[in-house]
Amino acid sequence: MAEEIEDFDADLAGEQGKDQKTGWFRRIKKGILTKTSEKKETQEGLWTKCPECNYISTFAELKEQLYVCPKCEYHHRLNSFQYYEVLFDNNEYEELFTNIKSKDLLGFTDLKPYKKRLEDIWSNTSLNDSVRVAVGKVDGEKIVIAAMDFEFIGGSLGSVMGEKFARAVDYCIKHKLPYMMINKSGGARMMESAFSLMQMAKTSGKLSQLSDAKLPYISLLTDPTFGGVSASFAMLGDLNIAEPGALIGFAGPRVIKETIKKIFLTVFSEANFCWSMAFLISSLTEKI
Ligand SMILES: [Zn+2]
Repeated sequence: MAEEIEDFDADLAGEQGKDQKTGWFRRIKKGILTKTSEKKETQEGLWTKCPECNYISTFAELKEQLYVCPKCEYHHRLNSFQYYEVLFDNNEYEELFTNIKSKDLLGFTDLKPYKKRLEDIWSNTSLNDSVRVAVGKVDGEKIVIAAMDFEFIGGSLGSVMGEKFARAVDYCIKHKLPYMMINKSGGARMMESAFSLMQMAKTSGKLSQLSDAKLPYISLLTDPTFGGVSASFAMLGDLNIAEPGALIGFAGPRVIKETIKKIFLTVFSEANFCWSMAFLISSLTEKI
């Protein structure tokens, strides 16, 4: 029994249990131990499927369509790199405030320690935190655009996002530039507790300084925009716009169901509903 379990090498070579049954594929040579990092795989994202209508297209085709499904116009979820590529002229921009990183001030542990969670993401991605700020030109006009990455702890609002937001506003005031925020967040970062909640007041205060300087603030709400983010700067734009179908609200359908034990028959927090309630000036029906 012990032999069977420990014959790891034979298992990798596809030879374990070959006497009992014949596999349809077996590695002939023993000892082929390719490291995962060295494996040649199909290029990631070569094909993509629309989550709404199951339309299958190549990633290149989808990119050409600015990540909007050519069949049903579903807006695929993008990260900050993709938004910058779509928005900035020739994908040329300068990233700002890259030196700010999160700290585990409270020694917080949920499923795993916050410090470990941060270290894991830093080592697996090129992201420093859940938001990136960049300055560049859109249609020849200079603008500062901050974009969230949902991949980084659900795009959560922590002290780093608040600080980057504040510095972005200061940068806009100093250089007389408009400011745009692309929101994609599950809300406040629970691992930072009250420090996270303080960012709601901090960012809202900063926006009044931007307003005093008579500089415009555009808030783009994408799927999803929830919690502390929607309760602060995401809804404070001089122009609030949203991608169609984006889930926007304070609490999502799942949280509501768990809290009040009721299921809403309609998804009330979709962008189109918010538009009808006049939260949003425009629910984009065109490509970004
Ligand atoms: Zn589709």
